[in-house]
Amino acid sequence: MEIPDVRYARTRDGVNIAYQVVGDAVMDLVFVHGWIHNIAHVWEFPLLAHYYSRLASFSRLLLFDRRGVGLSDRVSDVPTLEARMDDIRAVMDAAGSNNAAIFGSSEGGPTAALFAATYPTRTTALIMYGAYAKGSWSADYPWGETTRRVRTYDQRYRRGLRQTAVRRRTAREGHHDSHINHHRGGRYTMNAPASITITPVRVADLLAEGERMPVYVHVIDHPDARVLVDTGMTELHPAVADLDPRLRPLSKQDFDLAGIDIVVNTHLHFDHCGGNHLFAGRPIYVQRRELDDARSKDDYTIREWVDAPGVRYVPVDGELELLPGLRLVPAPGHTRGLQVVVVETGGRPVVVGGDVAVWFGELDEPHTEGQLRVRALDPELVWLAHEHEPWRPRHEA
Ligand SMILES: [Zn+2]
Repeated sequence: MEIPDVRYARTRDGVNIAYQVVGDAVMDLVFVHGWIHNIAHVWEFPLLAHYYSRLASFSRLLLFDRRGVGLSDRVSDVPTLEARMDDIRAVMDAAGSNNAAIFGSSEGGPTAALFAATYPTRTTALIMYGAYAKGSWSADYPWGETTRRVRTYDQRYRRGLRQTAVRRRTAREGHHDSHINHHRGGRYTMNAPASITITPVRVADLLAEGERMPVYVHVIDHPDARVLVDTGMTELHPAVADLDPRLRPLSKQDFDLAGIDIVVNTHLHFDHCGGNHLFAGRPIYVQRRELDDARSKDDYTIREWVDAPGVRYVPVDGELELLPGLRLVPAPGHTRGLQVVVVETGGRPVVVGGDVAVWFGELDEPHTEGQLRVRALDPELVWLAHEHEPWRPRHEA
């Protein structure tokens, strides 16, 4: 797509505003963009170029970069709405436009509305698209974003940058074949764009309050390593006889024990670390606080399963990027040292949560710090140790 000529208009306070005139229909249409914009680069995006071309098919479209943005002059402060409004006037004057339909998109909405109210005779129509009065929450503006939400967005943008890096890397390395999809639970296998695969494997059932509760471990097939999250249990023990465990240990399943490179324990309750001895010599990542509690607190777990011969822990203090796109994140609540595994998928993350919630209701209405933290990640799904299906957020508008 050819880039229309870029011209400059000068505002009353001396700022140079870059603009373009596209199309030659009778009606003038001024497009007031939101957030970021660059009138040269927008034509390189087929979707945007198509969008503007369609608008210009029935109008004389005036496109501009507002002050501080794109090809227009930089400014030192956050400009007032009045100053931004003068960008529109300057462009219209320079383009010989007496009156125009003013199209305010997103953050451009308030500026467009102020222009229409200030210059009614120069405004033939006001169009608001995805616009809002302001961004931040206040008592009289409950639709605004709270500081907490803004922080979440910020984290999402940062994650987005990291995802791009992961995707580039996996694209270079080519498709990675999964060898575990045939395992039980494989029907739940989800293939993420970054070819990180998560497969639940059922290793036991326990009797809890009269009902059978499954125990799952999760295999994360990452291009760089195969990671096992929790290890279930492999034998009976008098301390937990009342739970009437029925076992399907990994060592008795068609499961490639040698293929596991890294083990992560979400926490060290007996039904999560009972198979650690199968992975002696391989690194087992656990939060230091969890390890300390398991070794020092009474009735916490079955201690000989924690420190079985040859088991080697890598204590972690806080968050850790274990592999590209795969993070360990503390999620205290069920235990003080509980951690979850956050997997970047190219979209919303997937979480392997262990017992961050023992049943779905605990994530529907989060209470613990860990549950709140997991919800703040806005995950697509959360795998839990004691549920057959992954938890998904209820659809939000
Ligand atoms: Zn537990």
